[in-house]
Amino acid sequence: MSSVDELARLVEGCQDSLLLVVTGAGISAASGIPTFRGPEPEAIWRHTPQELATRACFERDPVTHWRWYFDRFRMLDDVKPNAGHRGLVDLERWQAGRGEFLLVTQNIDSLHERAGSRSLIKVHGTADRLRCSAAGCVHAAPRGSLPRAEIDLEPFVGRPGAETLPRCPACGAVLRPHVLFFDEYYDEHDDYRFATVRAAAASAGALLFVGTSLAVGVTELLLWEALRRRVGMALVDPAGTSRPELPMCVVAEPAEEVLPRLVARLGEP
Ligand code: NAD
Repeated sequence: MSSVDELARLVEGCQDSLLLVVTGAGISAASGIPTFRGPEPEAIWRHTPQELATRACFERDPVTHWRWYFDRFRMLDDVKPNAGHRGLVDLERWQAGRGEFLLVTQNIDSLHERAGSRSLIKVHGTADRLRCSAAGCVHAAPRGSLPRAEIDLEPFVGRPGAETLPRCPACGAVLRPHVLFFDEYYDEHDDYRFATVRAAAASAGALLFVGTSLAVGVTELLLWEALRRRVGMALVDPAGTSRPELPMCVVAEPAEEVLPRLVARLGEP
């Protein structure tokens, strides 16, 4: 089992280089947002058919698709950042002036930005924006989107049906969540900033994964690049790792406990 001292040595090694931190659903678990694949009883993978968060479902049955997303959005609106999010804000401050820092999150909640993280890429999109589903619309991919707060969702919430689906103010087509669906690609929208993530993977001095089961496309890319370049890696996840073959330091404890301890251990830059 690895320790906070080993984590500290890894990030201290990023003097004059890029410290790349990658978070997954686990960092928001202590804020009350269930993970998808985690061991907690409420992990939503157990209840949610993976087919719902797909473009195929959106096109086949937008009402069912939107009902699921509305429930998710409502849950995400009522939560607050926890000590894990705040620990990463402190880590970014600590690294400032020593080297570069980039936080890439797979999460669609807004807890990193609300905690104060600045150098942040939301590679799977964001729940606080929507976008048009019609190709060529100004509010559609690859560059368009709208704040969710600007769209009146109450008609659909009160009476979910085809006639109350949220519509694009510019062209009238049905709006969709501004997130990466499971059957889509990372280059679908400029906001996912996948080219920047790819470049960061190719130059990072160390990789710190937090609260991710390392089971999605972006973690696969980052792992592969780190292995190829023999870059040091660490994972903070109370479940440990499902990839024991990977050469990484694993701290099998909750992020909200480990990250504040890491920052305290680092002290002044
Ligand atoms: P995941 O659900 O696959 O894995 C979550 C991991 O977090 C698990 O390995 C679990 O052991 C770990 N975990 C649970 N509690 C933790 C804690 N307190 N501290 C640290 N780790 C903890 O999540 P994923 O790898 O992020 O990927 C699944 C996809 O689901 C992603 O695309 C993500 O966008 C999406 N998702 C997002 C949210 C959100 O926005 N908050 C929530 C659920 C799922």
